[in-house]
Amino acid sequence: MVSVKTEVASDTYLVGIGVSPGISIGAITLLGHRSMVEDRPIEAADVEAEIERFNWALSQARKQLQEIKETVSRQPHLREHLYILDTHLLILDDEMLVGETERAIREQISCESALTKVLQHLRQMFENIEDEYLRDRQSDVDAVGGRLMRILTGEHERSITDIEQNTLIVAHDLSPTDTMQLDREKVLGFITDKGGRTAHTAILARSLEIPAVVGLETITSLVYDRLPAIIDGGTGVVILNPSKETFTEYLTRKQTYEYLEKELDSFRDLPAITTDKFKVALRGNLELSSEFPLARKHAVEGVGLYRTEFLYLGRSEPPGEEEQVATYRQILEEMQPHPVTIRTLDIGGDKVVSGLTLPREENPAMGLRGVRFSLREGDLFKVQLRAILRASAYGEVRIMFPMISGIVELRTCKRLLCQVQSGLQEEGIDFDPKVKIGMMIETPSAVLLAPFFAEEVDFFSVGTNDLIQYCLAVDRGNEHVAYLYNPMHPAILRALKTVCAAADQAGIEVCVCGEMAAEPLYTIVLLGLGLRELSMNPASIPRVKRVLRQVSRQDGQALLEELLALRTSKEITTCLEQRMRTLLPDIFENALI
Ligand code: PEP
Ligand code: MG
Repeated sequence: MVSVKTEVASDTYLVGIGVSPGISIGAITLLGHRSMVEDRPIEAADVEAEIERFNWALSQARKQLQEIKETVSRQPHLREHLYILDTHLLILDDEMLVGETERAIREQISCESALTKVLQHLRQMFENIEDEYLRDRQSDVDAVGGRLMRILTGEHERSITDIEQNTLIVAHDLSPTDTMQLDREKVLGFITDKGGRTAHTAILARSLEIPAVVGLETITSLVYDRLPAIIDGGTGVVILNPSKETFTEYLTRKQTYEYLEKELDSFRDLPAITTDKFKVALRGNLELSSEFPLARKHAVEGVGLYRTEFLYLGRSEPPGEEEQVATYRQILEEMQPHPVTIRTLDIGGDKVVSGLTLPREENPAMGLRGVRFSLREGDLFKVQLRAILRASAYGEVRIMFPMISGIVELRTCKRLLCQVQSGLQEEGIDFDPKVKIGMMIETPSAVLLAPFFAEEVDFFSVGTNDLIQYCLAVDRGNEHVAYLYNPMHPAILRALKTVCAAADQAGIEVCVCGEMAAEPLYTIVLLGLGLRELSMNPASIPRVKRVLRQVSRQDGQALLEELLALRTSKEITTCLEQRMRTLLPDIFENALI
C-alpha cells in the first residue's frame, strides 16, 4: 500500500499520551508500517508445504530472538527486560497463534494470508479487553506477528539499530524488543500510533529515560523521513514542522527542563524535611522489578505501595507461593533498610486477570474487587498471605488490604492472616510475627469509620485515586466526567482531614499513596494535614522533595485552614496556586515544575 504524504503545515500540533517525560527536537525516521497481506488462495496439494514454510518461519523467529537475547544479556542495564524476549518466545509456541494459523492454511490460503487473518482476529480480541494492562499486551503479539511476517515475505524493514543521529522514531507501534535495541546516542525520542501507559514499551521508555509520546493514532500517515519535529513526553505534545519561533521556544523549554532535572538531581541525597524540621518519608509506588533502577536513581525510602496484581496479569496461571516469595524477597532486599508495603491482590474493577475467573459485572468498580475478590477466593488469598509472611523474614514488610468498606471485611482478612501465621509456626517456617497490618482508605465508608478502623490496624494508606472516584461518584477512567475529578474538592479535603485526625488520635501511621501525593502543588496541603509519609511514582520524588524542603509545616497548617473554609474546587485551587506562587515563585511561576 503506497500512501501519498502531502507537505505538513508549519507548527502542526498533535496531542497523544506522554508516557516518558523530556523534550526532544530532531528529524523523523519513519519505520515501516505493519505488513498486511490480501487473501491468496493456494492449491490443496500445496497445504503441507505451506505449513512447513510456516514452521520454518517459527524456527527462524526463535533463532532471531535467541540472538537478541544474547546481545541484550551482555548489557547489564537491559538484562532485567529479558523477560520480554521470553514472552515473545512463548508467543511463538502459543496455540492461538500457531494452531489457528495452521488451521487457516488448511482452508487453502497462503501462510502470509493465514497469519494476517489470525493476527487481525487476535487484535480484535485484545481491543475488547477492558483491562488496560492486558490490552497493551497486544503489542507483544503484534511484534511477534510482524517478525514472522518479515521472515515470510523476506521484507527487511529498516533496522532500528541502523539509523541516523538526532532521530525521532515514528512507528505504528514499537515493540519492546525494538525499544530495547534503540541506540540512546542516536535516538532522541519516539512517537507511535498505538500504545498505552502501561505497555511494556512505555515502561521501557521510562526506564531508559527516552522521551516518548504514544497513542497518536495516525501519526505514521502524516509524517515522512527527515521531517523536523518536537516531542514533549511529559505533556504528550508533538509539533511537526515547527516554525522558527516554536523551535526557539521549545529549545528554551528543553534547556530549562534539563537544567531543572540536573538541579533536581542535587536533591537526591538531601533529606525530605521542611524548614521547621518536619520529616516526611518519600516512598515509591512500584509495580514491576524493571522499575528498580528508577527507584534507586531517585533514592526512594522504601516502597509505600507494591501493587501485587501486576504479578498476576498477562499470564494464564496465578503465581505460586515460591514465585511470590522470591519476588517479594527481591524487592525487600533491594529496598534495605527501608520498609516495603505489600498490598494484597487488588483486581476486579478495571483490572482483569485472565487466569482468574471473575464474573461479568454490570458495575465492576462497585463489584467484586480488591479484598472482596480475595475473600471469595480464600485459597488464592492464603497463598499470597503465606508468601508475604515468608518474605517478611528478609526485611521490613507491611501488609496492606485494598478496598476495605466495612469492619467485618477487615476482621476476616486479619483472621485469615492469623490462620496462615499459625500454619507457618507449626511448620517451623520463619516470618516476622510483628509484621504491621494496614488498610487502604479508598471508600467513603472507610473514611466515615476511620476512628473505628484506626483501632484495628497499624497504619492507613489513603488511595486517593479511588477515594476521589467513590466520594465524588466520578469514574476515574471516564474522560467525559474528568472535569469533576479533583483532589481539591472540598469534600476530599474534609475526608483527608477526618482520616488523618483518626490516625492521629489512635497513634497509628498514615500515608497517601494515590497520584495526589506525586503532585508538587498539593505537597503543602498534605503537609498541613500532618502526613509524614507519601508514596508516589519514583520520578516525582525530586519535585515533591524540592517543595517540601522550602516550606514549613506551619505554612501548610495555616493554608489548610484557609482552604477548608472555601466551598468549591475552583476557589480552593485558585487560592492554593496563588499562595504557592507567593511562597515559591521560582517553582510555581514556572509552568515546568
Ligand atoms: C488508589 O486508589 O489511590 C491507589 C493507590 O490504588 P490503585 O491506583 O492501584 O487503585
Ligand atoms: Mg485503588
